[in-house]
Amino acid sequence: MWADFQSLCDGGGRLAGSASEAAALAFARQRLAVVPNAKVRDDSVEYPGWRCRTAQLTNAMTGLSLQCTPLLGTASAVGLVAEVLDLGLGRTEDFEGHANRIRGRIVMVRHEYPFAAGHVHRRVKLGLAEQMGAVGFLIAHPEPGVGAVSGSSGRNGGTGIPALGIGVEVAKMFQRSPDVTLPAARIVIDGDDHPARTHMLIADLPGRGPNWVVVSAHIDGHSHGESAMDNATGVAVALGLARLLAAHVSGCPRGLRVCLFSAEEWGLIGSRIWLEQMDTAARRSMLININLDTVGGALGLTALTSGFERLDTWVKDTAARAGLPIATHLPLMANSDHANFAARGIPAVRLLAGFNAPNSNLRLLLTAADTRDKVRPEELDHALRVATALTWQALVADDATLSSLAARRSTPTSQTAPI
Ligand SMILES: [Zn+2]
Repeated sequence: MWADFQSLCDGGGRLAGSASEAAALAFARQRLAVVPNAKVRDDSVEYPGWRCRTAQLTNAMTGLSLQCTPLLGTASAVGLVAEVLDLGLGRTEDFEGHANRIRGRIVMVRHEYPFAAGHVHRRVKLGLAEQMGAVGFLIAHPEPGVGAVSGSSGRNGGTGIPALGIGVEVAKMFQRSPDVTLPAARIVIDGDDHPARTHMLIADLPGRGPNWVVVSAHIDGHSHGESAMDNATGVAVALGLARLLAAHVSGCPRGLRVCLFSAEEWGLIGSRIWLEQMDTAARRSMLININLDTVGGALGLTALTSGFERLDTWVKDTAARAGLPIATHLPLMANSDHANFAARGIPAVRLLAGFNAPNSNLRLLLTAADTRDKVRPEELDHALRVATALTWQALVADDATLSSLAARRSTPTSQTAPI
């Protein structure tokens, strides 16, 4: 498992559509092909792709060129020059407090630690900026020395405004000051929308019956760094789990389906389209989703249980019985592929390291500092134990127990947009 993790990191950040992603898919396909009894296939998915030739941010007063990274799928800009309005964190109240100053300006906000109750996601802030008439958007990572933060713009071929990630050093040039005049920036983004195609790697290990326990992890990432925590960790653990359980699934009442999704970083679109393309019976045969996304970088896992109350209790009890107690968080957090299963009524849980631990290595997610040195082998071992305990109990549970996990008191509302 550790060697798989290293190999995934060796190939770079695995941005969907890049050679790095293609190489990672080829590697994972080869690793799944040697799992005994696994039937491996590629499910093709078309999604709104995007490529960027140039992204430049300049201090319009000094002409100084500044480090930046385009948010995935951002709208283009041909030499946009505008004043930069610093809205601090960029919470709703920050936008409302400056409502009459936003139109025609570039707004600047801060990136927040994504795995905490109450955080406000980049796409919420970008949505507010666009709605309130901003002509551009800058989002800054708060930590010195780690450079620009990346992320998806969520535009997916629609309209939008030019949006760039920056580092704290660049943000300092544009930060709020008592001066009446605002600093100005120039943005050039030359990007192209184009139809793209990628593959979801599916490995089926059949059980006695027609239904499936689905273990998933997204293989794609961002172009800078190694996308090591997010999500070479989840893919390595999913591969390890497949090997561990392969010899035991055929006697279970249902089968194990391992899904390595791509285009997750594009607003969760890969798994969403994959689920949409499936007929109802095929979707119904998937009884539970255990999604592994960012399971290293901090010791200790939290299960995000997507508003399914019985699932929440089942996860807690099952992990405790295995001697691996984990915390759970019941409200739906639509921050990974499990959210697409939950939206279809399939009980879905995301295992995640670093929840409510803003000082952990997970703070470096989406930056060039998401590299393999932030992950320890024992974190992956722990994640494998927890994931295997949950998956095995889901494989052997009686039908009534498993179908009861789909119970929800009411339709949950999303607290978080996709990361
Ligand atoms: Zn992820």
